[in-house]
Amino acid sequence: MENKTAIVIGAGFAGLSAAINLADKGYKITLLEKNNQVGGRARIWSENGFTFDMGPSWYWMPDVFEDFFARFGKKVSDYYNLHRLDPGYEVYFPDNEIATVDASMEKLEEWMEKLEPGSFAKLEKFLVEAEYKYKVGINDLVYKPSRSLTEFIDLRLLKGLVRMDVFSSMRKHVNAYFKHPYLRQLMEFPILFLGAVPSNTPALYSLMNYADLKLGTWYPEGGMYSVVRAMEKLAIEYGVDIKVNSPVTGFTFNGNSISGVTVNGETLTADVVVAGADYHHVDKHLLPGKFSNYTEKYWKKRKMAPSSLLFYVGIDTQIKNMEHHTLYFDAPFDQHADAIYTNPRWPETPLYYVSNTSKTDTNAAPDGCEALTFLIPLAPDLVDSEEMREKYFHKIMDRFEATMHQEIRKHVVVKRSYAMTDFVEDYNAFKGNAYGLANTLDQTAILKPSLKNKHLKNLFYTGQLTVPGPGVPPSIISGIVVAEEISKEFGVFPQQKPKLSV
Ligand SMILES: Cc1cc2nc3c(=O)[nH]c(=O)nc-3n(C[C@H](O)[C@H](O)[C@H](O)COP(=O)(O)OP(=O)(O)OC[C@H]3O[C@@H](n4cnc5c(N)ncnc54)[C@H](O)[C@@H]3O)c2cc1C
Repeated sequence: MENKTAIVIGAGFAGLSAAINLADKGYKITLLEKNNQVGGRARIWSENGFTFDMGPSWYWMPDVFEDFFARFGKKVSDYYNLHRLDPGYEVYFPDNEIATVDASMEKLEEWMEKLEPGSFAKLEKFLVEAEYKYKVGINDLVYKPSRSLTEFIDLRLLKGLVRMDVFSSMRKHVNAYFKHPYLRQLMEFPILFLGAVPSNTPALYSLMNYADLKLGTWYPEGGMYSVVRAMEKLAIEYGVDIKVNSPVTGFTFNGNSISGVTVNGETLTADVVVAGADYHHVDKHLLPGKFSNYTEKYWKKRKMAPSSLLFYVGIDTQIKNMEHHTLYFDAPFDQHADAIYTNPRWPETPLYYVSNTSKTDTNAAPDGCEALTFLIPLAPDLVDSEEMREKYFHKIMDRFEATMHQEIRKHVVVKRSYAMTDFVEDYNAFKGNAYGLANTLDQTAILKPSLKNKHLKNLFYTGQLTVPGPGVPPSIISGIVVAEEISKEFGVFPQQKPKLSV
């Protein structure tokens, strides 16, 4: 049997992962990326000696990355060096309260006990539950294609559903363990930043707290883009033909199959097409209505994860007493959550996050300088203007300078902002979302957009809007899942090219 061909649209983590996994199954792959760099939302930007990861900066769930490379007989260390950050991060609350999330959790324990005696023992219990959810969730659930409920008819999973806390909310779950508002916010932050209001998120997602507090926050030397480079290299080793500056603008059809993909005025053919670009863009803008999987009404009803206003800022001085990752929660938490999820608007006093990569990586900025990324989570689809961006830059800078007791603005030598309109323009992001779909119960597992087109037998979808969802590890897993599904329908073939050594 002749090897089949596949075209993968979009070279984000999901597209790269799908391409590598399909190539490993003997498919001849062309990977088409609209931008001039691979990596998608995880692109890199360099200016005057400063280097910024434009998207993800938190390397969580190191086991997922290790498992990914192990599929191909490789190790993470074949491609990049990984360091556990200690502390993983700090959180600034009002009244100069600072939570230091250290690897041994000794400082964390001291701080928690000061605020709420007995709370650290409760945390240990909370994390035992979270570990169970992580192990079942990450080892079993997220690798399921979620095409039918029958996949979940497995005694172990059914028995575990109650313990997995699928049907209760994260807020209730956290509140049952902790009373102090700062402790509650510390537990809820991964949910707020990556997906939905805690009251609307299944308590299943406390698995993120296990990933955070037990597995730790890591830094790949050279930044998150080192992971992209590693996957690009692996793809090339597997013979994937990567074409950047190649925006797909449409398809040709033969009955109920895609016969060609239109790119830069050419039509490329393949047996299978995998869409790793934003689902809505492919479904509503690239496909004619009769082949769309979902109606515009369906898409309007989806709850999106936040977008973000980002500032990549290079300064010609160093900041004292600042860790690699810092969350500034010195403003009302629920008010900001309400502005993202319930009553979408620009938040009055935003929470924000700052990554200071140069704290760990001297190559990120020239000597004596720092490369800082500021991030404010925002409701997707907000009207975004230069004026508004500047207003928010000064809003957070006023607070940042006061908190760090240092003047920053007069030291700015490089600055770039990035927000909703950029997400739309650069990635064809639905409503300018940064992180895909919110992790609500009605958008989990089989309730996510399907990874297969209902009308076209050779069109599949991957990426953060499909299963398992947003974040780098889930996006990588999504590429694995879609490749498995394709190989079940289209077969597995002898590998096309001998693997080259790294
Ligand atoms: C600011 C920010 C911070 C984040 N922080 C973290 C973090 O700290 N940790 C974490 O784990 N996750 C984080 N995330 C989430 C994570 O980055 C994403 O979930 C993940 O990168 C999504 O990968 P993807 O492949 O699904 O999508 P994308 O990265 O968007 O890839 C889709 C690709 O398709 C391309 N494309 C679109 N249209 C076309 C077309 N017509 N033709 C060809 N190509 C097309 C796009 O250019 C893009 O390259 C963050 C995201 C953002 C934006």
